[in-house]
Amino acid sequence: MPLVKKETSIKKCPECNSHGVLVKKETIKAIISEYALKRVVGDAFALCMNRNCEISYYSLDSNIVFNTNDLIVPLWYKKDANPIYACYCSKVTKNDVILAIKDHGAKTVNDVKLFTGAMKNSDCLHHNPLGKCCHKIIQEIINEEIQDI
Ligand SMILES: [Zn+2]
Repeated sequence: MPLVKKETSIKKCPECNSHGVLVKKETIKAIISEYALKRVVGDAFALCMNRNCEISYYSLDSNIVFNTNDLIVPLWYKKDANPIYACYCSKVTKNDVILAIKDHGAKTVNDVKLFTGAMKNSDCLHHNPLGKCCHKIIQEIINEEIQDI
């Protein structure tokens, strides 16, 4: 199951031509570096979800694009992400989640929350690059890990 439903109606990433996901400007302003912030104009932006593309956010009504290194946090699904965050609000990494599954037998998102402290101080609108709750990211890691066992 895809992590995020791709919106087929919005403009594709100008670099890789894959479908992006709409993100609120309020989220982008919190995730982008102070330097890159000066280039944020207009109101409609999308996030490129292609693992191999270096573009992060791109404007839907102008030619403005941002790279992954214009952000203050790595995008978890890009190929060179380090660290890979599962929960941006509580700074819980994918490794933390894997440890909770392997060492503590966590099987559900709720178990992972208990063992890692993920989603404790949730403010996803300003911390998660999509502006959405991270429970789907955690669920995907659980699915991957439980298949491996
Ligand atoms: Zn792209």
